[in-house]
Amino acid sequence: MASLDDIKTIGVIGAGQMGNGIAHVIALAGYDVRLLDVSEQALEKALVQIGKNLDRQLKKDMISQAEKDAALAHITTGVEYTFLSDCNLVIEAATENEEVKKQIFKSLCPVLGEEAIIATNTSSISVTRLASYTDRPSKFMGMHFMNPVPLMKLVELIRGIATDETTYRIIHELTKKLGKDTASAEDFPAFIVNRILLPMINEAVYTLYEGVGNVQSIDTALRLGANHPMGPLQLADFIGLDTCLSIMHVLHDGLADTKYRPCPLLVKYVEAGWLGRKVGRGFYDYSGDEPVPTR
Ligand code: NAD
Repeated sequence: MASLDDIKTIGVIGAGQMGNGIAHVIALAGYDVRLLDVSEQALEKALVQIGKNLDRQLKKDMISQAEKDAALAHITTGVEYTFLSDCNLVIEAATENEEVKKQIFKSLCPVLGEEAIIATNTSSISVTRLASYTDRPSKFMGMHFMNPVPLMKLVELIRGIATDETTYRIIHELTKKLGKDTASAEDFPAFIVNRILLPMINEAVYTLYEGVGNVQSIDTALRLGANHPMGPLQLADFIGLDTCLSIMHVLHDGLADTKYRPCPLLVKYVEAGWLGRKVGRGFYDYSGDEPVPTR
């Protein structure tokens, strides 16, 4: 593959909160999108969510009805890997678990054309190591979108040790075409955004765990005292507590520094299945009209 013009069809693996957002922005940019998940239910939910998010953009006059209709027509869904065989690029956005991603690349590579590029939306796992599970480390890199994808401007771009210049250039140009800005990060645990953000969130959970403040006081303190648009616990719920914990593990294991020790309260919430907004409960309860702090 020599240039961005060679990319026509883009696969997205994982139809969760990130996968549906990535499919949304790529379809709006005029590409055919093949969205794959292990769960049919996740695919159905993703299509509903994309429809709702496009409607929100339509109401705000950010897109026209024709653009909305065209974007939806660009997206097809499937559960079999052969469904991705004509993709020129596949973006992996499945659960943040190295073994899951490894199995995905094992299933994906045999069905893909040899020129196709693979990108991963991992928040923290080594791009170089993920690349080694594929048959094309030179055509593999990190393309780290932010949540919610249709709104957030940044995509962090991460080269693995073997990523070639053409691959980096094509993904860089594609990111610009999607209307996003880029920041380039080296392949170290959690890259730039999460290397800085997650220890802050983990510290907020310690602050709660030690009783320094309750959920409301911690979030209010950071919103009003540090001018953050969202409190750290609200943000943790938004990211997903399982994803937060998994990033802390990557930092702790990868940098071997006790300052990255995941807070036991974060571990307990994940063990309880209180994963945040996506399941209706985390540091806040989302079952009513307004989120209610749980501690
Ligand atoms: P999520 O839990 O909302 O969605 C994960 C999806 O992956 C689910 O639909 C699940 O069914 C699917 N899945 C699991 N195993 C699969 C498999 N073997 N094949 C295909 N699909 C499979 O998670 P998310 O928040 O969308 O995160 C996805 C990725 O994006 C992770 O790597 C995460 O680190 C990264 N990320 C997350 C955020 C965030 O704020 N949540 C931000 C940037 C990047």
